[in-house]
Amino acid sequence: MNNRQLFLRHVAQLSDAPMALEIVKASGMYMWDTEGKKIMDLIAGISVCNVGHSHPAVVDAIKEQAEQYMHLLVYGELIQSPQVGFATLLTQHLPASLNSVYFTNSGAEAVEGAMKLAKRYTGRTEIIAFEKSYHGSTQGAMSIMGDEAWRNAYRPLLPDIQHLTYNTWEAIDQITDRTACIILETVQAEAGVRVPQKEWLQAIREKCTATGTLMVLDEIQCGLGRNGTLWAFEQADVVPDILLLGKALGGGMPMGAFIADKEIMWSLTNKPVLGHMTTFGGHPVICAAGMAGFKVLLESNLIDTVKAKGQLFHQYLQHPAIKEVRSLGLMMAVEFESFAMNKKVIDACIERGLLTDWFLFAPECLRIAPPLIINEEEIRQACKIIIDVLNEVTDVR
Ligand code: PLP
Repeated sequence: MNNRQLFLRHVAQLSDAPMALEIVKASGMYMWDTEGKKIMDLIAGISVCNVGHSHPAVVDAIKEQAEQYMHLLVYGELIQSPQVGFATLLTQHLPASLNSVYFTNSGAEAVEGAMKLAKRYTGRTEIIAFEKSYHGSTQGAMSIMGDEAWRNAYRPLLPDIQHLTYNTWEAIDQITDRTACIILETVQAEAGVRVPQKEWLQAIREKCTATGTLMVLDEIQCGLGRNGTLWAFEQADVVPDILLLGKALGGGMPMGAFIADKEIMWSLTNKPVLGHMTTFGGHPVICAAGMAGFKVLLESNLIDTVKAKGQLFHQYLQHPAIKEVRSLGLMMAVEFESFAMNKKVIDACIERGLLTDWFLFAPECLRIAPPLIINEEEIRQACKIIIDVLNEVTDVR
């Protein structure tokens, strides 16, 4: 049996139509398959490889740390310098109230930790979340997922959760002194890149402060430079009580984090002790990788280039079949009339060596979220492929 057959037989499948490309190498903006075909990655492993695939600084950090030590003991007991170093560096680049970092293995685990923390700290149970939001696939994260069809397939889920409509003023009224926390993406990603009004985020902040509700911002997808600034909340002039990170945080390795004030985080320390446990969270090799990737982001001028690169995409993506291009920095949704058409575009792009995708709650939208290292020529090439494909698969020109 070849690898494709073994993949389909032994690797658990999530859909009956996986891309099933076999990749043998990835570096920077590109992947190569077994036939040597070069594929430009326009989605960065879904917003993960912000500094590109296998960045040399990240690879070196992994090698160096693996030679020193790998797993030592469960989370929180021993002083491990990569963990201390990365937590310290992150907090140096965050507002003063976000000073305590809990490292997890994934974004969903960060969401779980934050929901527990908010319940413990406030002594309340109600959680407010939003339609068309995606926060992960574990049971707590799925309870706040913004889609009834997915939720309903796994009931019973967590009780006392309200789903409201994102970026609507009615939502503000629903935050009361019963609400433990409100969890939202600073920019909704899987909804097809929906950027809320700055004033709306500010009104949530004010209402949370007035009611003692914790504001939890999920920047797992939109954080770490992809939005054009290091953190998306900076653009709205708000500071969350709990910040959720993941995806690009590990520099290409699996990692998440929830970050809060030490006083809030303290709720996990007592009555009972060990309020949230993990064996591997904060793994030294992954922290070393994450810190190396984060330093590349900080020390290069990559984030400063994001806005202009996003604008270039807008400039080149002109075609009558495109209904709208929504974006913030290098998070971009190109909307077509239907999923069927989008799927044709995605398939034809892959044929031409360009990897794109659709969005969970906006299947009619093409996902563009390249590594932030993409250059002007690569943007031009990628857009040319998309426009050529559109000319071919649609009858409008
Ligand atoms: N939150 C957001 C906004 C996400 O996009 C994702 C994953 O796509 C998650 C949370 C869950 O992260 P993970 O897949 O690492 O569990």
